[in-house]
Amino acid sequence: MNSFRYITATTPPEAIAARGANGRYLGGGIDLLGEMKEYIVSPDILVALRDPVPGQAHAATALPDGSLILSGAMTMAEIAASPEVQRAAPALAAAAGEVGSPQIRNVATLAGNLLQHSRCWYYRQPDVVCLKRGGTVCYAREGENKYLSLFSGCECISPVVSNTSVALAALGAQVVFANRNDGQPMSIHDLYHQAWTDPHAHNSAHPGDYLVSVQVPGRRSRSVYRQVSERREFDWALVSCAAAGNIRDGKIHDARVALGAISPLPHMVTAANEYLEGKALDETTVAHAADLILQGAKPLAQNGYKVPLAHTLIRRTLLELNS
Ligand SMILES: Cc1cc2nc3c(=O)[nH]c(=O)nc-3n(C[C@H](O)[C@H](O)[C@H](O)COP(=O)(O)OP(=O)(O)OC[C@H]3O[C@@H](n4cnc5c(N)ncnc54)[C@H](O)[C@@H]3O)c2cc1C
Ligand code: SF4
Repeated sequence: MNSFRYITATTPPEAIAARGANGRYLGGGIDLLGEMKEYIVSPDILVALRDPVPGQAHAATALPDGSLILSGAMTMAEIAASPEVQRAAPALAAAAGEVGSPQIRNVATLAGNLLQHSRCWYYRQPDVVCLKRGGTVCYAREGENKYLSLFSGCECISPVVSNTSVALAALGAQVVFANRNDGQPMSIHDLYHQAWTDPHAHNSAHPGDYLVSVQVPGRRSRSVYRQVSERREFDWALVSCAAAGNIRDGKIHDARVALGAISPLPHMVTAANEYLEGKALDETTVAHAADLILQGAKPLAQNGYKVPLAHTLIRRTLLELNS
């Protein structure tokens, strides 16, 4: 690892000024320090800011309209244990509670979890320079692609692996950057859209963008998150699914279903959300929604198993939303 300076800031503008041209913001360091040890990135300054939303570093704020504000510095453990999050956005509490291991959850922050980089084996190998690292070839397409995407808008098939992104997409949440859009919120779709179109991008954040907070609207009273992994602890999802909506008179309204680990962005199909509107969530309905969501999937040599896995997960998640 190269030598670097460590700076603590007290406000987002101070952090942005301290970062300079080749600095990085530091959350819990789970992702960033791993990349630095492998010389995938070599920043000269790390800037830490523990309290970007003054006084709200460790607790979600519930607003009178039922929405939530979460500081980007909240840890996975704090989100999972938060009574406000469990009440207003149970899918998010569950997604955070499934991240890695207790040790990881105790330090990994919401901002860092959302902005973590690709886990593709080729990307993480110091000696391999694949397309995402600035090379010319995506080695995974003809090589090891068991954990990679069923959908992509570009040559790179590395999927989004952030648990919280999947729950937040289903909940219709938005992120706020201090120095982007005049502080106007950005949807989760927009946060990852660049990774869909540009093989070099992990997300749509520009260098230096500082993620301050996440806003979760209070419009959906029910939400569920489920994932399937090879190991119970210390592992990423093979496929994850979150669903959110309102149940009135036994029918679903305002449904949103999002999947992780199958696309560079949380995979959501508007036609499926619209199809679900006003329907009772029975076996036939949830199976048709799953068909719509997975239509057009393009499995590669080793990841075809994700199609039936995702189909089952969507059905189970939607049925659980109803229970
Ligand atoms: C064994 C293992 C298993 C794991 N399993 C899972 C899993 O199941 N699900 C899952 O979602 N994740 C999993 N992870 C990944 C882990 O959750 C992430 O690495 C972690 O959440 C990153 O958060 P952090 O605060 O440590 O980020 P950091 O490593 O500090 O930062 C990550 C990136 O975000 C940037 N960043 C940090 N804060 C900000 C900010 N405020 N504004 C702008 N940029 C910022 C950093 O510069 C860096 O590029 C696993 C990791 C390991 C090692
Ligand atoms: S999937 Fe993306 S990260 Fe993996 S080898 Fe291909 S270009 Fe690189």
